[in-house]
Amino acid sequence: MSLVETVSANGQFKLLVHETWCKGCRICVDLCPTKTLAMVESPDRWEGSIVKVTNMEACNGCGICEAECPDFAISVFAEGKSKPAAGGAA
Ligand code: SF4
Ligand code: SF4
Repeated sequence: MSLVETVSANGQFKLLVHETWCKGCRICVDLCPTKTLAMVESPDRWEGSIVKVTNMEACNGCGICEAECPDFAISVFAEGKSKPAAGGAA
């Protein structure tokens, strides 16, 4: 498992998923307002699934996923900024 980086086509937003830390709880998937994230099967993990960025172009950089992930497994970056674009994080 590793750190997976996904950047929107226009370069505006970037998501970093630390797969080692993701426990597959799907909180971020359920809370993401734009359906950018999804759970996918991962048989090599005891949880059975892991989060993946499946629709990056929909991401609006709100930061909810980063703010709500209990395991600090996902981070959101906006172009030219080091933290979420819309102040979604605490
Ligand atoms: S909230 Fe965090 S731990 Fe839970 S599925 Fe999303 S990235 Fe993984
Ligand atoms: S930053 Fe917002 S829109 Fe983008 S994946 Fe996270 S919760 Fe979804």
